[in-house]
Amino acid sequence: MTDKLPWYHKGLPFKCTGCGQCCTGAPGYVWVTDEEIEEMAAYIEITPEDFVKRYVRKAPGGRLALIERPKNYDCVFLKDKKCTIYPVRPKQCQTFPWWKETLSSRKEWEETGSYCEGINHPEAPIISLKEIEKGLNS
Ligand code: SF4
Ligand code: SF4
Repeated sequence: MTDKLPWYHKGLPFKCTGCGQCCTGAPGYVWVTDEEIEEMAAYIEITPEDFVKRYVRKAPGGRLALIERPKNYDCVFLKDKKCTIYPVRPKQCQTFPWWKETLSSRKEWEETGSYCEGINHPEAPIISLKEIEKGLNS
């Protein structure tokens, strides 16, 4: 039974400081669904059509992602190191760092901690397995 438990079964220390490092730094994709587009558009009080024109790009394969700034790879909604649409940020952002890739091994987790200061933060509470799995499965 015990050998089936994931390596992080005792929980992991994490506390988001809002540093914004997960919203910049390297090319990538923040995927968005039509429902998320509607919600984000409503939050900034524009139409979903305008939102798509201004903030969304089509990735190879046709999936939709938020635009990132070409010079520094900042997400288009990152301003002064803060997310300007935080309450309605896409699920992909809400669930970080509880991603399959990040949790694939302790090494991956520690490597993610090289840019995410919330991982192993000295003031971080231990996030339980139940909470981690909630993020992982949402
Ligand atoms: S939507 Fe907000 S939380 Fe998500 S990457 Fe952009 S700035 Fe960061
Ligand atoms: S890099 Fe980590 S600590 Fe910083 S905003 Fe992102 S999740 Fe929070």
